[in-house]
Amino acid sequence: MERTLDTIPVSQWGFFDETIPPLVIAGPCSAESELQVMMTAKGLHEFGIHVYRAGIWKPRTHPGSFEGVGSKGLKWLQKVKNEYGMKVCTEVANEKHVYECLKYGIDMVWIGARTTANPFLVQEIADALHDTDIPVLVKNPVSPDLDLWIGALERLNAAGIRKLGVIHRGFTPLQKIPYRNEPGWGIAVELRTRFPEIPFFADPSHMGGSRKYLQELSQRAMDLGLDGLMIESHCDPSCALSDAKQQLIPDELRTLLESLKVRQKAIDDADYQKSMLNLRTQIDIIDENLLLELKSRMDISRRIGEFKKEHNIAIVQASRWESILKSMIDKGREYALPEDFITEVFNAIHKASVAAQNNILAQDYDKEQL
Ligand code: PEP
Ligand code: MN
Repeated sequence: MERTLDTIPVSQWGFFDETIPPLVIAGPCSAESELQVMMTAKGLHEFGIHVYRAGIWKPRTHPGSFEGVGSKGLKWLQKVKNEYGMKVCTEVANEKHVYECLKYGIDMVWIGARTTANPFLVQEIADALHDTDIPVLVKNPVSPDLDLWIGALERLNAAGIRKLGVIHRGFTPLQKIPYRNEPGWGIAVELRTRFPEIPFFADPSHMGGSRKYLQELSQRAMDLGLDGLMIESHCDPSCALSDAKQQLIPDELRTLLESLKVRQKAIDDADYQKSMLNLRTQIDIIDENLLLELKSRMDISRRIGEFKKEHNIAIVQASRWESILKSMIDKGREYALPEDFITEVFNAIHKASVAAQNNILAQDYDKEQL
């Protein structure tokens, strides 16, 4: 089923200065003290950041870690709003958080990755926000489950929330990787393609987990044409009570943002449009050819299936497949095609072939049963 969302474009939220992309949300992982909140806001305001983030209730993996200052921090965010005219936002994970935010005039909220993964909580938050018009940003769930992410957007939308955005912060990795979370950009691109009108932020801080990856991840988000960044910034990261390794002082954030090459979304230039059309047509032709080739391959695969059946041979010949895959990876390397790409494509083709051959055996089995 094609899902749609009824949303209000970010240009009508009155939050961001869209003339200088990307859209930026910055601020500390956690609000820790009034001084830290105000000092950080001052540093960010000085170079034109309009939207300030700070966690008030922190979802921590282990009990006993710093779990946020709670509601008293909302007063500090109010002060940021009054003193610097910034919009302020924080994470909500249940209805109590929502009511507190509404009470203190918080301008926008986001739903954290652990909460997006829980439809009961998302529904509770959606119900509590009913009849308000504050924007809600939804982080991806911790697992790479696009439908769960979309489901959260649907729940909020169904509760009348039309200022919706998303934040991609990556997924819990299954094995050790350099980043804190697996980028899984493919899922982000899919969501972007399905809902191009929804403002899309990347969170390089939680994705990278370390200052040293912020630049490359932010640039990647720009290369993919995402709209904005949510980045953690702290006036003195060495003393941060949470996520100390991934926070930048405001000045460093300024340098990072200045270094980014922001890609244009589309331009009206006629030559550009013509060349683009030409390239896209070539891609369309190649895609059609790929389909035809896949069909031919599948036809042969079915014939092999028939043949194996006649001779009573097992469908999967693992050693043969391993050697085919290896040789494809080697050849692919000569064409500068990445190994994981080749592996994924050929494994998918192989899986479909095995399924087709299994069908042939099953038909026979069905006949025997009749
Ligand atoms: C955060 O933004 O402070 C946070 C807890 O992030 P996430 O939900 O992505 O882990
Ligand atoms: Mn954090």
